[in-house]
Amino acid sequence: DFGKLAKDLGMKAYAVGGFVRDLLLRRSNLDIDIVVEGDGIEFARTYAREHGIRCRFHKKFNTAVLIFPDDRRVDVASARFEYYQYPAALPIVEFSSLKMDLYRRDFTINTLALALNPGEFGQLIDFFGGQRDLKDKTIRVLHNLSLVEDPTRILRAIRFEQRFGFRIGKQTVALIRNAVRMGLLQKLGGRRLLHEIQLIMVEDDPLPPLRRMNEFAVWPVLSANILFDQKLEDLFVRLREVVSWHRLSFLDEPLERWWVYMLGLFSGLAAADVEDACGRLQFTAGQRERIAWAYRTVSGLLWGFFPAAEHKPSAIFRALQPFKPEELVFMMAKAQDETPRRAVSHYFHRYRHVSTELKGRDLKEMGVPPGPIYRVILDELLDARLNGEVKDRQ
Ligand code: ATP
Repeated sequence: DFGKLAKDLGMKAYAVGGFVRDLLLRRSNLDIDIVVEGDGIEFARTYAREHGIRCRFHKKFNTAVLIFPDDRRVDVASARFEYYQYPAALPIVEFSSLKMDLYRRDFTINTLALALNPGEFGQLIDFFGGQRDLKDKTIRVLHNLSLVEDPTRILRAIRFEQRFGFRIGKQTVALIRNAVRMGLLQKLGGRRLLHEIQLIMVEDDPLPPLRRMNEFAVWPVLSANILFDQKLEDLFVRLREVVSWHRLSFLDEPLERWWVYMLGLFSGLAAADVEDACGRLQFTAGQRERIAWAYRTVSGLLWGFFPAAEHKPSAIFRALQPFKPEELVFMMAKAQDETPRRAVSHYFHRYRHVSTELKGRDLKEMGVPPGPIYRVILDELLDARLNGEVKDRQ
């Protein structure tokens, strides 16, 4: 019904980008991007009103997003000739507004459009050879200045290539090598760089794109000392295994996967290099502290605490309680032997859910004068319960 509305408003609407690409690849993609030739904000506003759904817009970019009750989103952009500014070096003059919009995109496989208006519904529009490149499994930029215009495309090319099992085209490979050599990634703002690395780290299998980044000599953008060797690869493989274990064991518990892989990436670096890399990625003060703290404490636990003795559940609980799931998952992957792995697993499955039946208010009712003693009593009770010395009331 997007097409019908467009027609009623005297506009043309197209589904574009990743949605069309994934449709042709028969991969599911719930994010729909629409480009309208006309006023996209008016289009989205009318659609939202007619369907009683929410809508937000960016006046500045002439874009809107429709938000459906099930949280699905549809992005709407306006293709209008006037506001495209292009580097003077590029000889473009007579493009239709849709073609112009698609020309700004990253790779040919992302430039396909599907007409939505009645009468032409379903027509595939392919200005730049996107279908051919999908068939040939090739990632190709649209023009030679593409990576200069936006160096994040270097990382996007790698991500799509590895996700789909494609190859980056020969010319595009040369452009990437050149762009890396010219230090274009160095010029990229930390947040944008971080965002692209995050997107890579939340891919189903981040190892292939991370390895490919190494082939393209991208890592020095974070630190000259990242050594992408077999040891680091093995760690990433184990991280992925533990991440899957976590997902299968605790289905609805969120886990920030990129954080787990970032801990992995940093674990082979010296503290000063970690700090530099965090600075480069413009981590927030909170994120820096969290990394630094994990960096300091995890190895202490793995090589100090765990091998020292058989620990009671209460000791394991106390040792692991300060950590978030991401650090615990990292710890399991990093552990060399079974003992810490089992301990962390027990913590995940059991210990962390244990609590005392008795609460502070019960102590008060029992006439215990309030004070620090409460903490001591409740902690001891919790320890006893963790160690199986106190059983549930029958
Ligand atoms: P994913 O499946 O990872 O979401 P996607 O192709 O849907 O992939 P988005 O990042 O959601 O990717 O971007 C939507 C569309 O916007 C892309 O298909 C692409 O055409 C365009 N796009 C996104 N980022 C860029 C960029 N840096 N340069 C040019 N075009 C871009």
